[in-house]
Amino acid sequence: MNELIKKLFTEVPVASSDSVSLRSVADIESDNLMSSNEILLTFDTDWCPDYVIEYVLHELEKCGVKSTWFVTHQSPIIEKMRKNKLIELGIHPNFHPDSTQGKDIDEIMNHMLEIVPDAVSARTHTLFWTGRLLNEFKKYGIRYDSSLLLYRSDNIEPHRYNSTNLTRFPIFWEDDIALMEGYDIMPDLRSKGLKILNFHPIHIFLNSCNLDNYNKGKKDGDWRSHVNPYSAGLDVVFRTVIETMSVGKTLTLKELGKKYN
Ligand SMILES: [Zn+2]
Repeated sequence: MNELIKKLFTEVPVASSDSVSLRSVADIESDNLMSSNEILLTFDTDWCPDYVIEYVLHELEKCGVKSTWFVTHQSPIIEKMRKNKLIELGIHPNFHPDSTQGKDIDEIMNHMLEIVPDAVSARTHTLFWTGRLLNEFKKYGIRYDSSLLLYRSDNIEPHRYNSTNLTRFPIFWEDDIALMEGYDIMPDLRSKGLKILNFHPIHIFLNSCNLDNYNKGKKDGDWRSHVNPYSAGLDVVFRTVIETMSVGKTLTLKELGKKYN
């Protein structure tokens, strides 16, 4: 064995009792009690028009299902959503260099919190992530993050960072990924573990069954003329999901988060 590798295997540092605490059996048992089979509905608005959001809200109100909305921009419908007891508003910051929300993290976070001043939940656009965001989110009062995709994974559990008071809630299923994968686009709601579903309202409005209609609408801005009226698409998936969810108790991410943080 190479000397360096041998050193790494033999000189494992021993944790001192004053720097770390060992997990007790009681801690482990209480973790298990936290195990969640919840289904949570979330949306990334991604600069879609208000009439698209209205379309989705109307269906949610009919079913009485709660949801968390990660908003990208200011618009008249935000005020209406703020008053809706079924809805939690979170932020959807875009940290890419071409962001229209600001030129750096501070400017972007300040801009987002002007739109949703009491936001405690966040999901970054395109699920962009850097370890630096743990501290940045703490600075701006974000306690729940859902910017990690563990697509169709079983037994998903939240991850808690004690140092920053942030809990990350991985996404179980996301509509655009389902479209790109191209086979069964329906999430398996019987799968074990936490199931956070991420819809983009535009794909529900378009009843997308692939990305063609979306790409055409993005080009000419005329979303209404690109609705898929034929085959089963994401509007059907969405309606099936909310009908299934409506028979039980539903939660927003903030409500679920309070169980952990
Ligand atoms: Zn996005």
